[in-house]
Amino acid sequence: MMKDYLVRGIVPSKNCRVFACQTTQLLEEARQKHGLWPTASAALGRMMSATLMLAAMNKNHEKMTVSINGGGPIGSMIATTNSDGKIKAFVANPEVHYTYNDTGKLAVGVAVGHEGNLQVIRDMGLKEPFVGTVPLQSGEIGDDFSYYFMVSEQTPSVVSVGVLVNDTNEILASGGFIIQLLPEATEEDIVYIENVMKDFPPVSSLIHDGKKPEDILRMLFEDVEILGTQDLYFECDCSKEQMKAALITVGKKEIQAMIDEDHGCEMTCHFCNQKYQFNEEELKELLLEM
Ligand code: ZN
Repeated sequence: MMKDYLVRGIVPSKNCRVFACQTTQLLEEARQKHGLWPTASAALGRMMSATLMLAAMNKNHEKMTVSINGGGPIGSMIATTNSDGKIKAFVANPEVHYTYNDTGKLAVGVAVGHEGNLQVIRDMGLKEPFVGTVPLQSGEIGDDFSYYFMVSEQTPSVVSVGVLVNDTNEILASGGFIIQLLPEATEEDIVYIENVMKDFPPVSSLIHDGKKPEDILRMLFEDVEILGTQDLYFECDCSKEQMKAALITVGKKEIQAMIDEDHGCEMTCHFCNQKYQFNEEELKELLLEM
C-alpha cells in the first residue's frame, strides 16, 4: 500500500496554485478506530483531505481545527492538525450510512446535513485565534470548503475531495485536490479551469486507479511545478495527563462519586477512541491535588 502524502504546486501559465493529497491509509486507520460506516467514512475522509490541504496553505505550523455541524444524523465533525501532516478527527455518530437512490453513491450531504456551519479556527499563537465561519452549502464537504475559501479568504477555489469504500466497508481510496486562483488570474485562466473540470473523473476513482497526487495535478495542468510534498498520518496526541486535566473539570463531587460508586473511571479520547483507566487510588490522589 502506498503511503499518504500531499503535494503543493503552482501553475504560472494559469495563475493558480494547486494542492493534491492521498489520504487512503489515514482514513482506513480512522475507520478502524472509530468504527465508521461507509457514508461516515466518506464524510470524514473528505473533511480530513480538505483540512490537510487547507493547513498546507500556511507556512507556519499553526494549529488548525475545522468543525462541521450540518444538523444531519452524523452530528458534529471535528478535525484538528498542527499543519505538520498529522491529523486527528471524529464524527459524533460513526454508524451512519445513506446512499443516493439514483446513483447509488454515498450520500454524504444527507448524512452531514446542510443546516449549519463550517468553522475554521486557526491558532497563530496570537491572543485571539482567527475564526472563519460560513453556512454550509450542501454538506457534501467539497462545495462547503469551496464556499469557505470564497467568502472567508476571498480566494476562488475548486475543491474536489472523494472517498471510495469496498463491500466490506474498507477504504479503497481517499484524497482530493484544490485549485486556487491567484489575484492575477485572467478570464482565460478561469475558462481553462472550468473546461478542464467539466469532464474530469472523480478524484477517488483516479486514486483507486493508482494515480498519485502529482499525476492528478499533471492531468489538470501539464506544466504544473511541484513545490513540495508532505507525508500525512492519522495521529492523536492524547495522553493520560491530558485526560487527568479533563477529569479535574468534572468537579470534586463527581470524582468522589466515581470513587464511592464505581471505584474508578474510564475516559475515552473522542479523537482516537483510546481508553484511559483511572483506579480508585489515582482518583483519590487527584482529589488531593485539586
Ligand atoms: Zn486520542
